[in-house]
This record gives sequence, structure tokens and C-alpha cells, in this order.
Amino acid sequence: MNNEVTVPAKTGIKLRLKNGETLKVIDIEGEQVVDFFASSIEDGNEVLSTGVTIDCNESLKINKNQYLYTNHYNKMFQIVEDTVGSHDLLHPCCRKEMYEHFYKNGENHSNCYENITDKAKEEGLPLLLEVHPFNIFMNTKIKTDGSFEVLAPLSKANDYIVLKALMDVNVFVAACSVSESDCNGGRCKSIKVIVGKSEQKNSSTTAST
Ligand SMILES: [Zn+2]
Repeated sequence: MNNEVTVPAKTGIKLRLKNGETLKVIDIEGEQVVDFFASSIEDGNEVLSTGVTIDCNESLKINKNQYLYTNHYNKMFQIVEDTVGSHDLLHPCCRKEMYEHFYKNGENHSNCYENITDKAKEEGLPLLLEVHPFNIFMNTKIKTDGSFEVLAPLSKANDYIVLKALMDVNVFVAACSVSESDCNGGRCKSIKVIVGKSEQKNSSTTAST
């Protein structure tokens, strides 16, 4: 696979990363959310867990140098670079039912849930019924009373985040399809991903070799 891929607006891709490789996710135009999900290649039942990530980091936010964890409480990715610093661990993927619920336009609406699960099905991976993505660049403002508000992303053109894989993974990336709110600044745009090699492998994982 070419190591640099443009993901057109409202679509998704699947790619593989080996332990130690990095994925750079670039917001080409700015204000575009990217739904990011992953499963272990060794054990398809081990998947990215935003709940466990919140638990282990003891925070609803995630910052540079912190980790994304799996449902088995293993470190799956480390955030090694981040030019934005505002991402979301709370929201599910957008899906037809969500568009129907909020906007009454769910029928035939492109959505991150299908853009991720369709790629998983193509690969014969276990059906990822409940995909809880890491929503890169999504700007969810949590208030002191526990309510929250989704604001336009803080990402500007060519802002990026770099995730280092700490195990061999299938990665699913979708350029979010919401144009009905401020989530993507009101307009759906393309994003770019670049796979890179990392010099040093993570020493705290046992997934390699
Ligand atoms: Zn979406």
C-alpha cells in the first residue's frame, strides 16, 4: 500500500500497522473530525476501547505522550505528536440512526459507523458491533454540570496527530460525515493519512516477536 493515502470526504479506509509504525492523520483543510478505530491482528476480539482509555488515563481528555488502550487493558497506541490537543473520547460513531434521531435524515446518509464496519466485513474481521471510536480533532466542551457541547474543531489546515502502534493492528479511519452541526465546521472535507516507520520499538509491550 502506498504509505500516503487521501481519504475523501464522508468515506473510510482500512490499513494495517505493525508494532512500532506510526500513523500521521492530517486535517488537510481544517475543522474536520476523523473517526479512528482499531483491532488487534493477533486477537480480533481485542479492540480499541475509549472507556478503558478514559479509565487508565483518569481523564476525559487525552494528551501527547498518553496512550490509547484496548478492551483488554493493553496499550494500543501512543500519541507521539499532536498539533491540536483537542480530541473526543465520548461520542459514538455517527450512524444512520443518529442522523434520524437528531435530523430526520438518516436514510442513505453516509456515516462513520458503516464506513468503518463495511471495511471490517470486507476483511472478514469479526463484526465490530459496537465501534467506539477515538474522534480525532473533535472539539467537545464538557461543562462543570456534566453537560457538553460540540463546537467546531480547533484544527487548522495541515494540523495533525501522530499515533504510534504498540501492537500489530488493523486500523479504520473515516472522515466524518456530519455537516448538520458544528462538528466538522458545517462542511465535510477530505483528510490524509501517512504510515511511517518508527526508530525505536516500544519496550513495554509483549505483542512483538
Ligand atoms: Zn462521523
